[in-house]
This record gives sequence, C-alpha cells and structure tokens, in this order.
Amino acid sequence: MIRTLFLIALLAVVIASATWLADHPGVVQIEWWGYRITMAVSVLVALVAGVSILAALAYRLWWGLRRVPRFLAARRRESRRRRGTHALTQGILAAAAGDARETQRHADKATALRADPTLTLLLSAQAAQLRGEEEVAAPFFNAMLDKPETAFLGLRGLIGQAMRAGSEDEARGLIEKARDLHPKTPWVATALFDLQTRSGKWEQAEETLKQACRHKTMPDHMFGPWRAILLLEQSRAAQAAGHSVLALSQAERALKQDPDLTAAAVHLADLLCRSGRQRRARNVLQKLWRKAPHPALATAYAATDGGNDPLKRVRRLKKLTALNAGHPESKLALGQAALDAGLWGEARSHLGIIADGRAPSRRVCLMLAELEERGNGNPSRAREWRDEAAQAGPDRAWVCNHCGAAAQTWASLCGQCGAFATLEWRLPGADKSHLAVAATEPLFPAMAVPISPKPL
Ligand SMILES: [Zn+2]
Repeated sequence: MIRTLFLIALLAVVIASATWLADHPGVVQIEWWGYRITMAVSVLVALVAGVSILAALAYRLWWGLRRVPRFLAARRRESRRRRGTHALTQGILAAAAGDARETQRHADKATALRADPTLTLLLSAQAAQLRGEEEVAAPFFNAMLDKPETAFLGLRGLIGQAMRAGSEDEARGLIEKARDLHPKTPWVATALFDLQTRSGKWEQAEETLKQACRHKTMPDHMFGPWRAILLLEQSRAAQAAGHSVLALSQAERALKQDPDLTAAAVHLADLLCRSGRQRRARNVLQKLWRKAPHPALATAYAATDGGNDPLKRVRRLKKLTALNAGHPESKLALGQAALDAGLWGEARSHLGIIADGRAPSRRVCLMLAELEERGNGNPSRAREWRDEAAQAGPDRAWVCNHCGAAAQTWASLCGQCGAFATLEWRLPGADKSHLAVAATEPLFPAMAVPISPKPL
C-alpha cells in the first residue's frame, strides 16, 4: 500500500516536472574543449535522469555480482546442514528400531557432514551400544564431557554403562557429578539416593533426600518415613561403632520423624534398656502398642526387665496388652507367653478367642499344636493342628511392596530386591507393587534410546 502511494507520488512529481519544463522552454549551451553543444533544457534533464538510472543499475549489478560467491557458499552450507539433519533423523529412527548397522551408517554420514556434534556423538555411542560394544561407546560419552552443553548427556551415558556393568561406586561418583551440573533433575536424585541406600551410606542418603525434597524431585509425603529409616540406620551404625550417646539421640530423632516406625521403637527401647532407663523404654513401646500392636513390640517389652522368667514375662505382657486388649496381637502375645510359662489353661483361653468362629492362621495352628502336645499330651491332635497349619492362610509378615517377598524381620532394604523402604506389615499375596517407591524403579528405562531429536 505504501509502495503504491510512493509510486503514484513519484509519477505525479515526474508529470508535474515535465509539464513545468514544457511550459518554460529554454536552451542550454555547453562549451568544452573547443566543442559547443546546444540542447533544450528538457533534453538535458532527460539525459541526466537517464544516466543516473543507468549508473544506479550498474551499481546494483556490481553489488549483486560481488555477493554471488558468498551466496553460493551459503547455499552449499544450507544443503549440507539439511543432509546432516536428515542423516541424524534417519540415524535416530534406526536406533529406535534397534538397527545397529543403519545407525552407524547414518552416524558416519552425519559426522562427515559435520552435523550437530552433540547428536552425532550420541548417535555414534548409541550405534556402538546396539552392537553390544560398550567399550567403543565410552569414548563418545567421554568426548561429550568436554563441552558444558553436552557434559550432562555424556555423564548419563556413562552412568548407564556403569550401572549395567554393576560398578556401583563408579556410578555413584558419576551421578554426584551429574547432580552438581543439574541438581533439580529427578532421575539424578533418585538414582543417587538408590545407590547410597544400597551401599549403606545413610548420612549421604539423608542429605540427598533433603536436597531432593527441597528441589521437589521426590514426593513430599515420603520425606518423613524415609528420613526416619535413614536416622534409624545411622543410629544402628553408631551403636555398632560403640557411640551409644549418638545412637540414642539418632534413635530418638528417628521415632520422632515417624512415630509409627515399629523398628525404631524397638531399637530405641533396646538402647534405653542398655542405659538403664527401662521405664522410659516401656513407655515408648506402650505408646506404639496402643496404635499398632506388633509381635516385635511384645518381644521387646518382655525383654525390658532383663530376666528370662516366663511367669514374669506373662505378668509384664498383661500390662502391655491391656492397652489394646481387643486386638488379636494382644491375644497372640499373651497366648505365646502363657505357652512358654506352661500356663495351659490361660494359653487355651487366649488362643481359643482368636480361633473362635474363623479359620486360624498358620501361627495360631502351630501354637495350638504345641498346646496339645505339651499341655494335653495329645500328639495325634497336635499332628492334626500341624496338618491344619500346612493348609492355613499365611500370617502377616514384612512384605515388600516392590517384589512381593515376605520376611519375618524388618529391614530398611528388601532382602530380595534391595528396594528401600518397601516393607509393609501385612498379609502376603496382595499385589501392592503400585506402591513401590520411585527410588527402586529401573533407573534408566530410557537409556536404550536416549536420543531425542533436537530442533535444528
Ligand atoms: Zn523386594
């Protein structure tokens, strides 16, 4: 629009000038080097205008010709870039399809065309990994460490290699470097936490957990329970090293962080008893028994008096179980204590209440078998209960929510799969694998095809 208006204005100026010159005719005479040229003013104006236009066109042509080599070079560069990008794209597709030969061919082509160096190195590494030649892939990942923009990607590749090779110490060192580069990347915090807990580096794991929760790379609701377990393990380590004061303070902090952690209550009670504070130890166990009775609490409570007298044990447990009298664990604890003390009638009474009207669990069947054998001298009836025990439903156990393995004693790491904080006191069998925490998930699910196309 502006261009059209400008042309109309220019045309108007030209017409006005021509009209003005026609209305004011005149003659111009030029004398130069013995020549005399006479011409009308309008002709002179037309000549000047024509020469100016020709000079402008000549300059334009010269300017254009000067740019031709640069233009041709840019065309060549653009063509090479396009072909490089195409080679990378094809290479990525070949890698995704698991075709090592095609991936390598496109990686070589991309290298020759000097395509994006990050993706070219990564593609070459991927081709080597697809061929199963990890040692060939490593130099490509190492080369990526030299540049700040590719260092993180290179570290990820090397971490994957170290993990697959089972070199956990090397992997931990590399992940710590990756964390320094990108502390807010979720998989870095998760992988580091996983390796630290697996190798029993509880203090470092606690620091990683704090950082991860600060950066929101781990679920907030897991902070308390996980930190409690890490503190409990630090307390156990301090106790093993003979630092009883530190062990006691760590155990107190663990139970404060997660008041429902049975193992922490049992451990704290044990430490308190060792320091002569039996009353406080019993209070700790009683507090948790009110909320969540557990056999380990009963065992720890009975041990607080330090003696092995079975009758004392029964009296002690009666005080504890009175706090949650209706709970089956209270009956079981009293039943077992009565059996150990030879109080057959009392044992029968407690076990009878549990077995009344419902199928007794394996643990109850075995206790009833013991009662028949030792209390009544009836081995055939005891055998029947043992047969029943073989058919009975399972008792509660520490079941791993990651792999489903059941254990009788609690541990911070599953004895089967090594997952952290996945043991739950429940009936085995129910699939709760969806509850498995992120820290135990496969660390590098994306490493098989780690390349994502970058906009070129
Ligand atoms: Zn497990």
